[in-house]
Amino acid sequence: MKTIGLIGGMSWESSATYYNLINQKIKKQLGGHHSAQCILYSVDFDEIAYLQHKGDWGRLAKIMVSAAQNLERGGADFIILCTNTMHKLADDIISCINIPFLHIAGATASALKEKGIRKAALLGTLYTMEEDFLRGKISKEYGIDIIIPDANQRKKIHDIIYEELVHGIIKQESRKIYLDTMNILAEAGAEGIILGCTEIGMLITPETTDILLFDTTQIHADAAVTFAL
Ligand code: GLU
Repeated sequence: MKTIGLIGGMSWESSATYYNLINQKIKKQLGGHHSAQCILYSVDFDEIAYLQHKGDWGRLAKIMVSAAQNLERGGADFIILCTNTMHKLADDIISCINIPFLHIAGATASALKEKGIRKAALLGTLYTMEEDFLRGKISKEYGIDIIIPDANQRKKIHDIIYEELVHGIIKQESRKIYLDTMNILAEAGAEGIILGCTEIGMLITPETTDILLFDTTQIHADAAVTFAL
């Protein structure tokens, strides 16, 4: 089994989900007393969120690169970055390490392809929805059309992530905002919804909607286990 290096803490709520999912899958696949061989480098999210909103991506790149290099030095065989948003800095990380980096967009695009999806909607932070680092990779490299909510809905989706989900707060009214937005996107032709933020799965699950979901946390954790084994 390869040693998985996880860059986490963004937020720790979703890193806990990654840890859980990865271990469950390893146990399912290998049985017995098997569990994941992994190292978690968990950052202080207060500093990360502050630098994101300040727009200091240079400093954030240094923090991410240092975390990845520490994992490599500690014996990780490959890296997963347990947040969609920070994949904005994926190329900075990749260029500074000598072990593979399992990109969340690549894993998600493979899951979309597997289900024959040609057009999907993306929910996540404003960075993830509005910038090109995730949707560009999925649409350009994998030929899948990506749509996003309108500006007003995007702001609500973003605020619920930073004000509630990263703190582990689940509110029924926020779930309704997400579901209403998802219905609009499905009517606009989305064949599936990408939960492109690693906390959204705490709020939206297949039990809460009939729309086909692509939960990036689940997909990324699955891909990590496949690669590790
Ligand atoms: N976990 C979130 C994501 O997947 C947001 C927190 C962050 O800014 O990293 O994008």
